[in-house]
Amino acid sequence: MTKKKKVLLVICIVLLVLTAALSVVLVIHLTKRGQDERQPIAITPVDSRDLVVYFLDAGQADCTLLSCPDGNVLVDTGLYEIRFRTLAYLNSLGVKTIDWLVVTHAHSDHYGGADSVMEAYKINNFLLGGGVSTAYGYEKMLEAAERKNINTVEPFAGYRFSVGEMRCEVLGPLRDYGDENMNSLVLKVTYGQNVILLMADTGFEAEAELVTRYGEQMRADILKIGHHGSAYSTSSYFLKTVHPHYAVASCGRNNDYGHPAPSTRSRLIELTIPLIITHENSPAVIFECTGEEVIRR
Ligand SMILES: [Zn+2]
Repeated sequence: MTKKKKVLLVICIVLLVLTAALSVVLVIHLTKRGQDERQPIAITPVDSRDLVVYFLDAGQADCTLLSCPDGNVLVDTGLYEIRFRTLAYLNSLGVKTIDWLVVTHAHSDHYGGADSVMEAYKINNFLLGGGVSTAYGYEKMLEAAERKNINTVEPFAGYRFSVGEMRCEVLGPLRDYGDENMNSLVLKVTYGQNVILLMADTGFEAEAELVTRYGEQMRADILKIGHHGSAYSTSSYFLKTVHPHYAVASCGRNNDYGHPAPSTRSRLIELTIPLIITHENSPAVIFECTGEEVIRR
């Protein structure tokens, strides 16, 4: 064999090994993603005269339905890739109309399914958080809102709306943090004496400023912790003020970020606050709020 042929042979072998290694990595990645896709897609609705909160297993994304006899509020819409699963969840829960669709910020794990939701249901109002995205789906969402003539509101802190007895208030962002996660809409939902606090993807700085501004008004029965349980959200200081009975983290199985972070888990354990994770409770973490008590379903 000539020297030239030997070099060619070595190159061929290296290329073959690389291709094989890449294939293995790809198969592992697709299998991991696929696990979320195989989750059940139907949810049995809770028969209630009061508020039921469904933290839907949307993988590594957010999608929360607040449903009371007078109507529905949907906060975030999961990823575009799993939009059919999101629609299947909502269909199984008997959703026909969404009184308020909230998109907390311009990241695709929050707005991804929005245009599909707008096409599938009657949406009365659309509360749109700050930021813009050039990623797939964002423009489609804005086009769908315009085409369907949906009342669109870009709220400020202090903005309020109600659906029957369910009162919702936008607590933040209190200022421009120069970061889309930190600029997420923070929503406080009150039903009788029950309070649900939805932190979207905010972190320490925004949490601390919310505590300074609102103090004891941050108290909640259920806290959806910030940024899928990231290490940089849900500080002890914040938790001591909110003092929730339950903390919920919306995370995908085997997610690439290691959410919820061990340090966040530790802070919750220290304060004996139970952490409930969406993918471990697929298809949804469900609470019934009677106005007096909060019951895990
Ligand atoms: Zn997110």
